[in-house]
Amino acid sequence: MANGWHFFMNPGPTNIPDRILRAMDRGTVDFTGALFKQISDECFAGLQRVFKTTQPILGYAATGHGAWEAAIVNLFSPGDKVLIAESGYFSVNWGLRAEAFGLEVETLANDWRRPVDPAKLEARLRDDRNHEIKAVLAVHNETSTGVSHPIAAMRQAIDAAKHPALFCVDTISSLGSFDFRMDEWGVDVVVVGSQKGLMLPTGMAFTGISAKAIAATAAAKLPRVYWDWRRLLGQGNQQDYWNGTVPVHFFYGLREALRMLEEEGLDNVFARHHRLAEATRRAVRAWRQNDGPELYAVDPSAQSESVSAVLLPEGFDADAVRQLCLEKFNVSLGGGLGPLKGTLFRIGHLGDLNETMVLGSLAAIEVALGLAGVPHGKGGVAAAMEYLADTV
Ligand code: PLP
Repeated sequence: MANGWHFFMNPGPTNIPDRILRAMDRGTVDFTGALFKQISDECFAGLQRVFKTTQPILGYAATGHGAWEAAIVNLFSPGDKVLIAESGYFSVNWGLRAEAFGLEVETLANDWRRPVDPAKLEARLRDDRNHEIKAVLAVHNETSTGVSHPIAAMRQAIDAAKHPALFCVDTISSLGSFDFRMDEWGVDVVVVGSQKGLMLPTGMAFTGISAKAIAATAAAKLPRVYWDWRRLLGQGNQQDYWNGTVPVHFFYGLREALRMLEEEGLDNVFARHHRLAEATRRAVRAWRQNDGPELYAVDPSAQSESVSAVLLPEGFDADAVRQLCLEKFNVSLGGGLGPLKGTLFRIGHLGDLNETMVLGSLAAIEVALGLAGVPHGKGGVAAAMEYLADTV
């Protein structure tokens, strides 16, 4: 039995604010009626402001994996080639799904600890003289590594190579937490889920779709029913069809989440995320003394504003630290994914969070490092406190 609050510091799902829980705590309404139409209209208009787009956004009852798959089946035919910008576990997995659908997947190789190099992307696309590459698939914020990737510069690279490839971007752990601009950055397909920056339960996913992406659906030959964007879109600029029962309660929650983001102001939301991320980074830098843990993301300009992955010195088990945090201090952290399992733990600092939640969690981690016998410098929490005091 744990007493007190559970400190949920996973990089998704994230804390669901009481306001959102209360907004969902009500009876069902008829999803074919005018009231629901009014709620969903407000939601899609709000989502467009968060995506920074005037183009359509579609929703599905699904997790992010579903929205990944929707992008694949709507845009491509068997044998089409796509270029995956390698960033970590999630980029690799999007590629594996594309392969399962019979696409030819090429990987733009990249060190997981660093951001994708737009110059390398440009060079590869320039080389593709016959334009065999139909799309570039990238992850804005690689949740497995805590590295964020330069989407605007990657768009410029595609343009500089004068390449017609579609640009599809997973914003699952960036949207609503730090800056993303679908239209300005020329992103054709944006994939996101409900359970991170949008602060909702897991179970809905959304896709922003450019006119160029909608045009590409006509030539795509992969079979699709549930995910078929043409069917979902109808004639308008907004979703007009649902497969089966509409998840009405998600819309109550989404409406409240969007109202909360707009009341705080998106720029203030981003500034809050930056501050909490920087406090976390200061703590990890202090722990780094005595050959202690370090940030997995080595390039300071690409250290994520929503998640910090903390790499332990060789020979130490990150999952043991994580278990201590959970069992002794009721603090939940993310673990290492795929080949990173056991080597690092991840601190999610996104969604509905404040300074005290971050400081409390950093304190638990600092104690757990000691209990697990991991060498580290003391004073991580003090460094975070000092930064927060200086920036209050
Ligand atoms: N892409 C990224 C960057 C993610 O962080 C995640 C989940 O954490 C996914 C994709 C998969 O999303 P879901 O778990 O909602 O299917």
